[in-house]
Amino acid sequence: MNITELTVHELKDKLKNKEISVMDITNSYIDRINDKEKDVQAFVTTLTQEALEQAKNISGEEGEYAGIPIGIKDNICTKGIKTTCSSKMLENFVAPYDASVMEKINQSGMITLGKLNMDEFAMGASTEYSYFKKTRNPWNLNTVPGGSSGGSAAAVAAGMVPWALGSDTGGSIRQPASFCGVVGLKPTYGLVSRYGLVAFASSLDQIGPITKDVEDAAMLLNIIAGHDEKDTTSENIEKKDYTKALIQDVKGMKIGVPREYFGEGINPEVKAKLEESIQTYKKMGAEVEEFSLDIAEYALATYYIIACAEASSNLGRFDGIRYGYRTKNFKNLKDIYRNSRTEGFGAEVKRRIILGTYVLSSGYYDAYYKKAQQVRTLVKKEFDKAFEKYDLILTPTSPTVAFEIGTRSNNPLEMYLADICTVSVNIAGLPAISIPCGVNSDNMPIGMQLIGNKFEEDKILRAAYAFEKEIKFRDNYKPEFRK
Ligand code: GLN
Repeated sequence: MNITELTVHELKDKLKNKEISVMDITNSYIDRINDKEKDVQAFVTTLTQEALEQAKNISGEEGEYAGIPIGIKDNICTKGIKTTCSSKMLENFVAPYDASVMEKINQSGMITLGKLNMDEFAMGASTEYSYFKKTRNPWNLNTVPGGSSGGSAAAVAAGMVPWALGSDTGGSIRQPASFCGVVGLKPTYGLVSRYGLVAFASSLDQIGPITKDVEDAAMLLNIIAGHDEKDTTSENIEKKDYTKALIQDVKGMKIGVPREYFGEGINPEVKAKLEESIQTYKKMGAEVEEFSLDIAEYALATYYIIACAEASSNLGRFDGIRYGYRTKNFKNLKDIYRNSRTEGFGAEVKRRIILGTYVLSSGYYDAYYKKAQQVRTLVKKEFDKAFEKYDLILTPTSPTVAFEIGTRSNNPLEMYLADICTVSVNIAGLPAISIPCGVNSDNMPIGMQLIGNKFEEDKILRAAYAFEKEIKFRDNYKPEFRK
């Protein structure tokens, strides 16, 4: 038995039956990191020594997940451990407190194995915009893992952590999950607390699970979901047990397929695999119907206006005085501000701040920001209308499979297109999952996205679970660490 190939629900069963111990698990993961990290480069900070110490002292009474390892995206604050957002600006930032999700992770008895690489401040779709390193896709090391949670997705795919947390503002959980052949769930806006998540675009950001399978995603969502007084956008709704949704049955479920997501720009092999998946759902007894979501065409432009506007405001605090890196090169206060920001931020972050400041400036506010907010309302309305008819909406997660390192990093527009299928979900505040639905002719994973109505994570999980059981992706395909 190879411990690092097991899912968390399998690990838990084996722990319970005393087939393996917490030390076995910890040691296996540390060996795996020592073996694979040099190729994959998923971690900003590894905590292997700390994990060993913790593992030695685990009695099993610490919580439901005592001794289960996890990896955390490096924009989620961890008390006493660096939280860098993969930026020079926060290279040495040690959070004095835990994010609310981390309190829950710690209470469950889990052991944090490390902080995972990402695009700087979660801006990007390939993890190439990290200040520290470029993470590689375990299926083919010459390709990107996607982004911005590329470290989280690659670490799970490579078996260096059994599961991880990511964050998703426009696709950053789902798109890397799709590129790395794992499961990524972006919860409904307000379901998971954002307290202690370094803000990129506050009205869009959500933390969510990246896992090997759907059952693990439901389990991790159970841990992190719930009302939090420290986050004013956190919703106070009745708690659900998402594992109850995992029944192997989609009979009678109504799935809508928006034709706009299957048109120009979608790679033919991706399209073919998605069409096959639609047939699979039909075979399993779901009702699948095509419809039009024509506002989708405007979602990407709307997203980049809103996200950049909010980012320009959120990142104002990193000025070398209040927060973050301070330049050594200054003669006066103005120099400190200007040079700290010039030296501390990378090119993509600067681009977003400039764009965001522009769309919020007095002469352009009405033409761009206000317009984008109006379109946002229309996007929400179109989804509301769709959910009157359908339980779920099915689309590709990304128009392509993982692309080669270096092929898009100098072309922001090309990079932005990687999220064309995911951003509208954040604009509307909806939940969505990406699960692998097959591979292309080059053995690279393809992701399918299932979008649900607000707080209907259970429906998404049910449909994803049934599909996963049907196609058995993990039994048939594995990352090869191709060089
Ligand atoms: N790729 C998108 C962007 O760069 C999404 C990022 C995210 O979800 N954090 O904005």
